[in-house]
Amino acid sequence: MEHPASPDDWIARSLRAVWHPCTQMKHHEQLPLVPVSRGQGAWLYDRANHRYLDAISSWWVNLFGHANPRINAALKDQLDTLEHAMLAGCTHEPAVELAERLSTLTSNTLGHAFFASDGASAVEIALKMSFHFWRNQGFADKQEFVCVANSYHGETIGALGVTDVALFKDAYDPLIRHAHVVASPDARQAGANETSADVARRALDHVRSLFEARAGRIAALIVEPLVQCAAGMAMHDPSYIAGLRALCDQYGIHLIADEIAVGCGRTGTFFACEQAGIWPDFLCLSKGISGGYLPLSIVLSRDEIFAAFYHDDTTRGFLHSHSYTGNPLACRAALATLDLFESDNVLAVNAQKSAKLKAALTPLADHPHVRNLRQCGTIFAFDALIDDPHMARTFSRRFFEHGLQRELLLRPIGTTVYLMPPYILDDAEIALLATRTRETFEVTLGEAR
Ligand SMILES: *Cc1c(COP(=O)(O)O)cnc(C)c1O
Repeated sequence: MEHPASPDDWIARSLRAVWHPCTQMKHHEQLPLVPVSRGQGAWLYDRANHRYLDAISSWWVNLFGHANPRINAALKDQLDTLEHAMLAGCTHEPAVELAERLSTLTSNTLGHAFFASDGASAVEIALKMSFHFWRNQGFADKQEFVCVANSYHGETIGALGVTDVALFKDAYDPLIRHAHVVASPDARQAGANETSADVARRALDHVRSLFEARAGRIAALIVEPLVQCAAGMAMHDPSYIAGLRALCDQYGIHLIADEIAVGCGRTGTFFACEQAGIWPDFLCLSKGISGGYLPLSIVLSRDEIFAAFYHDDTTRGFLHSHSYTGNPLACRAALATLDLFESDNVLAVNAQKSAKLKAALTPLADHPHVRNLRQCGTIFAFDALIDDPHMARTFSRRFFEHGLQRELLLRPIGTTVYLMPPYILDDAEIALLATRTRETFEVTLGEAR
């Protein structure tokens, strides 16, 4: 059923020529595709100048709005200076300054920055570095990894090995080298007289028994600290992360913190690990680090990790690279992002904005079809209670569509509605977001009755 697309019909041309990510393309026979023509602040505009509040920060990457004047200015300056140069055999100021500033933000605990372009690559780098560290130290048997139930760490074949989301993983199962999966500390599992800390303690017991049995084989455990985002914003007690640190120390296993989604202030502190009072051995950053402007990821690691690769023998080095490693434009966007954190007291202001959004969403807590209204920093979520299985399955797509009609860009994960807005909403935008989310929910629910 192919009709010739007129030259200005981007949607038809896109559906023909662009293979969209994370999408069953046939669904777009019904589902609208938003032809975004420009962005300004928290808003995206389509060609007819309809606006949509980007309430999920364009897949969790945008922090300070679209077309942010200060990031734009930094990038324009960088563009006229150096757009790109390879980072093997050469270096440049944006990469050096970014590595140094990130080290400072970890109190100089994670003093070495390895650059890549996307989150999945950062995860693969951390896994490879951990394995190679142990091999360089004479522990070549440490080849196994541990991940948490329902975790998401990216979709390349290596990253899928430590991802536990059936939808992304099952089709590729024969290709994947599987990690051990330990119990999730998801606070929603708390029983009647339990706290989230009790759930965390139980989950840590599971880790301890695995470590006891297999520590000699395990290189690293990877975790999304505080919020397992792709699992549907599953939140846990910070004591879980502190407990993991202690167990990893006790059994000689690396702790990899995947802060690709939760880093850069999302959970209320710049790094989520800060709330547990610990530092990991490897910390993966991407998404928000460039302000949502350019693909950039970074793996930060400790001095002793770096030292184990430092040798006359080439093959003891970390022989990994990507063509755009340390791209100066992306690094400069990241530096402008860090400048904004410093100059605008972002974490404190975010706490106030989040309190307002939380108050505006609170009426939802009493809704008979809402469960587990929850918040961590600038992440808000609730689970929709829908009995009809077909309606539950189509909930996300229908909610997306009804949201668009109310100037909202929201894509629930299954039946979990979540908000992860950029940090720049004003009071009117906060009120609008809460009201329209509720309206969208009611309309979507109305179809299900
Ligand atoms: C998005 C994400 C990734 C993967 O990043 P990509 O840039 O999409 O490859 C990995 N881990 C977490 C926690 C993420 O949210």
